[in-house]
Amino acid sequence: MTASKNVVLKRNPDFAVRSGHPWVYRSQIQEIAPGAAPGDIVTVLDGRRPLGVGYYNPASEITVRLLARREVPIDAVFFKEKIKKAAAFRERTVADTNAWRVVSSEADDLPGLIVDRYGEILVVQFLTLGMERLRPLILEALNEVLSPRGIYERSDSSSRRIEGLAEKTGWIEKSCGDAVEVYEGSIRYNVHFEAGHKTGFYLDQRENRLLFAAMGIKGDVLDAFCYEGGFGLHLAKAGCRVLGVDVQDDVIRRAEENRRLNGLEAASLEFKTANVFDFLKASETEGRRFDFVILDPPSFVKKKSALEGALAGYKEILLRAMKLLNENGRLAVFSCSYHVDENRLMQASLAAAWDTHKSLRVLKFLKQSGDHPINPFIPETYYLKGYLFEVNS
Ligand code: SAH
Repeated sequence: MTASKNVVLKRNPDFAVRSGHPWVYRSQIQEIAPGAAPGDIVTVLDGRRPLGVGYYNPASEITVRLLARREVPIDAVFFKEKIKKAAAFRERTVADTNAWRVVSSEADDLPGLIVDRYGEILVVQFLTLGMERLRPLILEALNEVLSPRGIYERSDSSSRRIEGLAEKTGWIEKSCGDAVEVYEGSIRYNVHFEAGHKTGFYLDQRENRLLFAAMGIKGDVLDAFCYEGGFGLHLAKAGCRVLGVDVQDDVIRRAEENRRLNGLEAASLEFKTANVFDFLKASETEGRRFDFVILDPPSFVKKKSALEGALAGYKEILLRAMKLLNENGRLAVFSCSYHVDENRLMQASLAAAWDTHKSLRVLKFLKQSGDHPINPFIPETYYLKGYLFEVNS
C-alpha cells in the first residue's frame, strides 16, 4: 500500500505529534482527503511538511496512528525490517527465558500490533482497523523473520470495539494445541493461549519475578492477584511458604497445574480462589501475618474518569496489606494502568501508611520488563510501575 491521501493538521499542532508521538487525535485535524476510507494509509501533513505515514480510522478519537516518520511504502519489506529490528532488540535485552514480547505496539513503532513469543509459538493481537487491514503483510513478515511453528491470534481486546472490529481468536494456520511449556529462570509454566489472560501470560512482570526470586526473601508470602502462580512459584522455589490468591477459578486451577509442573508441594505453595479485598479483610480478623505481600491487581482504571475509584481501591488493599505484615515486612505494589502513575501510586501508599501508623522505605523502584520498552516520547508506553517497600511501625 502506498500513501496517496493526505491528512492535514491544524496550525500549531500539539508538540507531542511533532516530537515523535504516533497518535493524531481527531481534534488536531484540519482536513482529510475526500477519498480516505477507514483503514487507509495516509500521509500526515504539518502545513506542507509531511510528518509521516500512518493509518486512518475516523471511528477512533485517535484518528491516525503513524507507522513511519518518513514517506515510505507500507509493504512487506517495511514490516520485515520493523520486525527484524524488534526481534534484534530482544536478542540484546532478554535473558533467562524462551518467552518474551517481540513486538510491543507503539513502543516498536508498530501501533496496534502485539506479538508474543512462547517457545516456538507466536501469539498475535491486531488491535486496530489499520493493523487488521495490514495483516497479510504482517503474517508474511512474521513467518519469514521468526519462522514460528504456529501463530495463534488473540484479537479479543476491548480496544477492537472502539475501532469497529469484532473479536477474533484461533490458530491462523495449523493448530498446535491449547498450551505450551515455557521457562523463566528455574521455573516452568504452561501457557494457555486461548484460556489465559492477554496472550496467555503476564510477560511484563518477568524481571520482577526473577528479581524477587533472587533477593533471598524468606518466610510467609502472600501473592495477591496471583494469576497462574507467577510470583508465587518463584518464591516457593526460593524457600518461602506462599499463599496465592486470585478471584478466578480456572486461573487457580492452572496455577495448581504449574505448581505440580515445578515439583513443588502444596505445603510450600497453596492457592486459593477468593476476592483479594475480602481475603485481606478476613485475614485481619483471623490475625494472619505475612513477611512479604505482593499486590499486583488488574488495571482498575482504563479511563481517566475512573481514577478516583481506582485510587481508593489501591489505598484499601495497601492499608489492609500493611496491617498483615510482620515487623520489617516487605510489600510490593504494582499499577499496570497508565493513569495510576508512579506519583499517584506513591500517594496511595503514603496515605495507607499514614492511616496504619507505618513507615516505608523504598527498596526498589519497579517497572515493566525490558521487552516492553518505554519510549519517553510516548508516555503511554510506560504503563507498569511499582515499589518494593520495607514496612515498619
Ligand atoms: N502477578 C501475576 C499477574 C497478575 S494479573 C503474574 O505475575 O503472572 C491480575 C490478576 O488479578 C488476574 O489473574 C485476575 O484474575 C486477578 N483479579 C482481578 N480482580 C481480582 C480480585 N478482586 N481479587 C482477586 N483476584 C483478582
